[in-house]
Amino acid sequence: MENEVKSGQEFEFKAEMKQLLNLIVHSLYTHPEIFVRELVSNASDALNKLRFKRLTNPDILQPDAELGIKIKLDKENGIFSIEDSGIGMNNEELTANLGTIASSGTLQFLKNMKEQQKSLDGNMIGQFGVGFYSIFMVTDEVTVETRSADAEGKAYKWISKGEEKYIIDESDKETRGTTITFKLKDEYKEYAEDYTVKNVLNKYSNFVDFPIYVNDEKVNNITALWHKKKDDTTTEELNEFYKFISADYQEPLGHLQLNIEGVLNFKALLFIPKVAPPYLFRDLQDKSLHLYSNKVFIQDDCKDLLPDYLKFVKGVVDTEDLPLNVSREVTQSSPIMTKIKNTLTSKLLALFEDWAENDNEKFLEFYKQFSPVFKTGINSDFTNKDKIVNLLRFETSLTEKEKLSSLKDYVSRMKDGQNDIFYVAGDNRENIVKNPNLEYFFNNNIEVIFLTDPVDLFTITYIFNFENKPLKSIDKADIDVSKTDNSANDLSEDITSGIIETFKKVLEDNVQDVIKSKRLVDSPCTLVVGKDGMDPQMEKIMQMMDKGYSGSKRILEINTSHEIIKNLAKLNIANPDDEFLKKTIIQLYEGSMLIEGYLKSPIDYVKRMNEFILKATR
Ligand code: ADP
Repeated sequence: MENEVKSGQEFEFKAEMKQLLNLIVHSLYTHPEIFVRELVSNASDALNKLRFKRLTNPDILQPDAELGIKIKLDKENGIFSIEDSGIGMNNEELTANLGTIASSGTLQFLKNMKEQQKSLDGNMIGQFGVGFYSIFMVTDEVTVETRSADAEGKAYKWISKGEEKYIIDESDKETRGTTITFKLKDEYKEYAEDYTVKNVLNKYSNFVDFPIYVNDEKVNNITALWHKKKDDTTTEELNEFYKFISADYQEPLGHLQLNIEGVLNFKALLFIPKVAPPYLFRDLQDKSLHLYSNKVFIQDDCKDLLPDYLKFVKGVVDTEDLPLNVSREVTQSSPIMTKIKNTLTSKLLALFEDWAENDNEKFLEFYKQFSPVFKTGINSDFTNKDKIVNLLRFETSLTEKEKLSSLKDYVSRMKDGQNDIFYVAGDNRENIVKNPNLEYFFNNNIEVIFLTDPVDLFTITYIFNFENKPLKSIDKADIDVSKTDNSANDLSEDITSGIIETFKKVLEDNVQDVIKSKRLVDSPCTLVVGKDGMDPQMEKIMQMMDKGYSGSKRILEINTSHEIIKNLAKLNIANPDDEFLKKTIIQLYEGSMLIEGYLKSPIDYVKRMNEFILKATR
């Protein structure tokens, strides 16, 4: 049962909503015309919902009323009104839908945008689920009258000045659907003229599936663009269509038009956006592909047509193979959906392969925007894993900053005798190159892949081998590097094992082992991970997620060609219990911890360092 409405009951907007309205009224200046697009798009959504409901539930108000959108313009009085015969709203829905912000991140995002650009771009507003409020750019007061399609339902009126409050009242509206009426501010009077409004509709709303009338004249031709032949669709049409279904204001990076016939029959028009939405990992899943059955809209958030790692793709799929009154539950478990999904996936991968081969610039643009999501396909799509791996790109120690290399190219540059593909992870290139474990590789000109995206660590461990070459982290102790340089300069075996013993005694349980390093050149020591241990970067991620996670013990490698280690070896021969020797060993160990970001408290470290400085400056 609906709550009763007291006549003219006043409600206050929630604080967040007030801030949003304030932002819109005072900071949204560009593209005022988009209010038309937003209202038409909401009307079209409401009509789609109605059409879908009608398929399964005949008991609705005015089941035979035409599905359409009527815009009435009163030029003399500057009044704009838009009426749809869609699903309508009851009074609870009115409050829920027109009194709150759907997505909690929206307000913060818009605030940030305003801070950066000083104003908000009206063109972008539709993406954030707050399109309705764009009318407050052009008017001071709005009346929404609505009657739910529910045969039992009553009609309500929602009135607001877009400031602090709104009023809900009963209404005498008899027809199903929603009518929104408002008087235009003087400076926006042009939107009460047929010519202007028709132009806006032509620009933004050409692909609405329902007839749109402006003062009783039908202004759109309903064309299912994806039913046209490839050669008959123009780039402008495609771009407009993309903007229409995605609410993006930019043109897409690329598109794919499919007409599959045979055992499986479907048509599809898919688009790759130019820029990843700010909510890449959250809202993205919601509106990806629109599903049609024989030109009739079924649902706009069809999650089952693309694997998660391709959810950034927008578009339309229309199939004759599904029954018209298909329910969500049926679509979810239908083998037809799985087959369509498999075809779409391989066609998209083929498109990316084509870009990588023939238009690298475009491919890298795509990669920059979507690779954090795209890469996760390696862990989830075993059928296509190899194709995805081929499309991976990385910075390496030999590429310039921001230039990316494929694994294939890396392998083609491998030196004679190099059997492994080496990688190292870190926050960014600047930090990675300081990793002492890289010294050997730099000195011997062996290329190392730099993993700078945290997602890489989750995916790289699933690759194991590429072209029969194992992938190995340079932070691991079992790395096979044969040291050629400096060996003449090295300590003898006896002396080495003596100093290693002392290191072990002093560091006790703090390390898993102490070993002679084959890879260090300029640093006296470094911490590495045991052969079965977790990559250090990965450990950091685990620790971020679980504060109690302690991680594995490290192995300390010492560089027996380094002056400091040689000096310590001398002290060790004289007296292995020397206090200064012990202190220096702890200092070296903590220094390596510090480099890795694992030193819990720098207090003792700095105290010891000051002692050393004092000694050196005497
Ligand atoms: P969005 O459309 O992106 O969800 P809006 O701010 O434009 O965000 O609209 C908020 C909500 O109000 C919609 O999701 C819908 O539930 C409801 N709504 C808006 N216009 C209509 C309409 N003409 N008929 C039915 N419901 C509507």
